[in-house]
Amino acid sequence: MTSTSEPKLPRNHRLVLDLIRNDHQHLTVADVYTRARAANPKIGYTTVYRALQRLTDLELIRAFPSVDGKYTIYDRETREHGHFACERCGTLIDLDFTLPEEFWRPFELEHGVEVHSPALLLKGLCANCRR
Ligand SMILES: [Zn+2]
Ligand SMILES: [Zn+2]
Repeated sequence: MTSTSEPKLPRNHRLVLDLIRNDHQHLTVADVYTRARAANPKIGYTTVYRALQRLTDLELIRAFPSVDGKYTIYDRETREHGHFACERCGTLIDLDFTLPEEFWRPFELEHGVEVHSPALLLKGLCANCRR
């Protein structure tokens, strides 16, 4: 549980964190900004951006590049996890399964690399796009 050791945050940072936690999606900076503006019309883009960076540094949220590499996605789930990514609309769904060690250990040895995240990325079509 991270909530027990959560640091005291500036009001706007707390607002951004709550927005991400209350949302079931994976959000871009633009998504967070739109939602933050709805809650506090005075909040600026830079404030939202800095809040996201700080919250990521504090490991209260996670940041990773989108599948096309164009955006940073912010995720309220901070545990190691993979994603299913829709190739058509970009929707991401959390995947509570990482590649077992017996698969990536031999890969490390073969290529002399060090794996830091065995999280998987599955790609395909989401339920909406399949229709
Ligand atoms: Zn889709
Ligand atoms: Zn996720």
